[in-house]
Amino acid sequence: MTVVESLAPRHGLRVLITAGASGIGREIAVAFHEAGARVHVCDIDEAGLETLPEGITSSVADVSQEDQVERVFNDAAALGGLDIVVNNAGIAGPTGGIDEIASSDWRKTIDINLNGQYFVASRAAPLLRASQGLLINMASVAGRLGFAYRTPYAASKWAVVGLTKSLACELGPDGVRVNAILPGIVSGPRIEQVIRDRADKRGISYAEMEKENLSKVSMRKMVDATDIAAMALFLAAPGGSNISGQALSVCGNVETL
Ligand code: NAD
Repeated sequence: MTVVESLAPRHGLRVLITAGASGIGREIAVAFHEAGARVHVCDIDEAGLETLPEGITSSVADVSQEDQVERVFNDAAALGGLDIVVNNAGIAGPTGGIDEIASSDWRKTIDINLNGQYFVASRAAPLLRASQGLLINMASVAGRLGFAYRTPYAASKWAVVGLTKSLACELGPDGVRVNAILPGIVSGPRIEQVIRDRADKRGISYAEMEKENLSKVSMRKMVDATDIAAMALFLAAPGGSNISGQALSVCGNVETL
C-alpha cells in the first residue's frame, strides 16, 4: 500500500455515530457514507434524521438514557458488527458563573457529554475488540483549557479526554484504538448561540464577542465541520493505525478561551 492509498478508509467499514442528524456528527456520517462505509446514526431529532442521505440507517435516541443507548446498539447490530464508533453527542451547557448556574443544568451537561459517552463506550468495547476497531470521542479545545463561565462544559470535556486516554490504555492490548478529537470554534448555529450568550453575559455586542473569540485563534478563522470529518476519516484509514490515546486538536491553534 502506498502512502497515498493509506489515507483512504477501506470500503465497507461499519460505523456508528451519535448525534448524527446535524452539525459535526452529520458531516462525519456523510463523509463515511461517501467513503463507502455502512453507517448507522442516532439522534434525538427525528425530523433531522429523516433528511440524511439514503442508505444511512438511524435510531431516535438520547445518549444520556442508558436504555436508549442499548436500543441503538440493538438497531446497529444489523451492520453485523462495528469497526468505528464515534461518540459525538454533546451539548454546550449553560453559560454563567459557578454560583449562578442551576445544578440541573450542571447534571444535564455531565449526563449528555460524559455519561452518554460512557454508555456508548461500554457497549462498543466488545464489538471493537472483535473488529480491532476504533473509538473516537468528541471533546473540545475546552478539554485542555480553562473556559470562564462555561465550567460545566469544560469539566465534561476534560473528562472526555481522561476517558479517552484510559480506554486507549485498557483496550490497546486488544488491538482497539481510542482517540479524542478537540474541535475549536466550529462555524454554525451552535457557536452563534454560545457567542450570543457570552456577549449577553459580558454586556457587549455579538460582533465584539465574535471578534474577541477569533482573536484567540492564531489562524483568525473558524473551523468547518468538514475539517473535523476529515480528521475522523484519517484516523479510520490505515495511515492512522498507530495513533491511539491522543487528544487531537482541530482548531487553528487556540491557546486561550
Ligand atoms: P450541535 O449542537 O450542532 O448538535 C448536533 C446534534 O446533537 C443535533 O442533531 C442534536 O439533536 C443532537 N443531540 C443533542 N443532544 C443529544 C442527545 N442527548 N442525544 C443524542 N443526540 C443529541 O453539536 P455540534 O456543534 O455538531 O457538536 C458535536 C460535538 O462536537 C459535541 O460533542 C460538541 O461538544 C463538540 N464540539 C463542538 C464545537 C462547535 O464549535 N460546534 C466545538 C468543540 C466541540
